[in-house]
Amino acid sequence: MAKNLDERIAIIGGGPAGISAGMYLQLKGYKNYTIFEKTDHVGGKCHSPHCVGKGGDRRYEMGAIMGVPSYFAVHDVEQFAGVTHDGPKLQRAYKNLDGSPDTRFDKKLWRIPHLLKLKKQIKKFGELLESEYKGYDVAGHRGVCEGRYEGFAVTPGREPVSGKNENLKNLSMPFDEFTKMVGCPLVQEIWIGPFTSFGYGYFDEIPAAYVLKYLDFRTMMDFVKVNLWTWKEGTQSIYEAANAKLANPARLNQNITKIERRDGKVFVTANGKEEEFDKLILTTPLQVGEIKNPVAQGLDTYLDVTEQERALFSRIDYERYDTMAFITKPECYPDTSYYIMRNMEPDRLGHVMVFYRRWANEPDQPLVTYVLRKHKDKNETVEQYKAKPEVGYEEAKAMALKDIEDFGVPATKVIYEFQTYYFPHVFSEDYANGWYEKVEAMQGKLNTFYAGEVMSFGDMDETVEYSRDLVERFF
Ligand SMILES: Cc1cc2nc3c(=O)[nH]c(=O)nc-3n(C[C@H](O)[C@H](O)[C@H](O)COP(=O)(O)OP(=O)(O)OC[C@H]3O[C@@H](n4cnc5c(N)ncnc54)[C@H](O)[C@@H]3O)c2cc1C
Repeated sequence: MAKNLDERIAIIGGGPAGISAGMYLQLKGYKNYTIFEKTDHVGGKCHSPHCVGKGGDRRYEMGAIMGVPSYFAVHDVEQFAGVTHDGPKLQRAYKNLDGSPDTRFDKKLWRIPHLLKLKKQIKKFGELLESEYKGYDVAGHRGVCEGRYEGFAVTPGREPVSGKNENLKNLSMPFDEFTKMVGCPLVQEIWIGPFTSFGYGYFDEIPAAYVLKYLDFRTMMDFVKVNLWTWKEGTQSIYEAANAKLANPARLNQNITKIERRDGKVFVTANGKEEEFDKLILTTPLQVGEIKNPVAQGLDTYLDVTEQERALFSRIDYERYDTMAFITKPECYPDTSYYIMRNMEPDRLGHVMVFYRRWANEPDQPLVTYVLRKHKDKNETVEQYKAKPEVGYEEAKAMALKDIEDFGVPATKVIYEFQTYYFPHVFSEDYANGWYEKVEAMQGKLNTFYAGEVMSFGDMDETVEYSRDLVERFF
């Protein structure tokens, strides 16, 4: 069908998914897209507030921090926006609960039998993924539960790829089960660092497909080698710069009270005014039902959700992942960022997993803590899990303050708190039962398209890549 470049397209949400959807549409020649953003800024969970200290005005990170060289989609945005990954080099060390150094990754100890075994399993896992699990890293989840892959390759050219591979069905099982099944359980010790501490949940609850879409073998090795990107002005600046280059920059402070799909059109009511569109791209949380987050709202609070949308989107869950920025005494400033591996285990919910120091040699800059507050036990159904109480926000904050004090980095002042609706996903049962196939089959119905984190994975590159994928397929 011939493309109608004059179509009016409403994009809901001005985070990486929404801004990049506008960018990719514009690059294809679409002129009439409108991005509706609820807050007074773009970037969503790429959130980089300012702090004026002795080193001047610096931006720190309350949300996304880093990328890897295979962030090809983010690179598209960088090129469009005229920015580059020019931020401070990331460094890290590890601490035990008593504050002593955790030496588990000390290279000098690599001769110890356990570490040798781990090294062997990492190698085997990498080979297995490239051979028996061919297609595991293709962007998005189309076909996986049916033993297929279909999408775009993770290469600079992002060629369309597809094929059959029955083994991919195994990726619906939780990552710990999957690694045990393939005889490489120890790899979890490496994968956990950029997974659980980055708020993506625990390996006994999250399907392997999500873990490996994000931490494909190459990306994982980039984390191991600290071959990482950061941005001097913060990740938010990527999307601010891209937004400034859009022919139709995002409309900010938009309070959407109603979206109705009728008579083959889409009607968006924002700030009390109704406007007509031809198509709708949703990049905001698709979850239907109660969301215990002060900023996120269920899709059913403003969209005329269909029965099918309600049935599928009520299965989504998200991580309770909070960050807190604080200032400590100059003499307590840590030499680097610290990971506390023991606090990445579910029985330590609510404790600080990481404290992040972004700028070296600037003792008055904020440090940031990272905490998770809910875990689904293996034998719980989704319903039981959803009904279970989580660790309360204030309770976890008190624990975090105590943790940093115990680590010798007491907070003299908390300067920012960010309580996010993080990493929306479905659990193994729904994944295996074709949740993604059903949602993908709905794409375009009622002139509605679904994008954003849940459609692929909750990181910058997967969400931007999915927006590209969507525009390539349907526009
Ligand atoms: C603490 C933290 C650390 C992270 N670290 C990394 C990292 O190092 N690397 C990485 O790649 N990713 C990281 N991420 C994840 C990354 O930030 C997200 O995956 C990405 O921002 C998702 O983009 P999105 O557009 O799908 O959603 P979001 O970023 O959530 O954007 C959604 C947008 O929609 C808006 N919105 C919501 N509801 C409405 C409504 N009703 N009407 C209009 N607008 C609405 C929101 O205000 C927001 O601007 C991190 C995130 C956090 C919170």
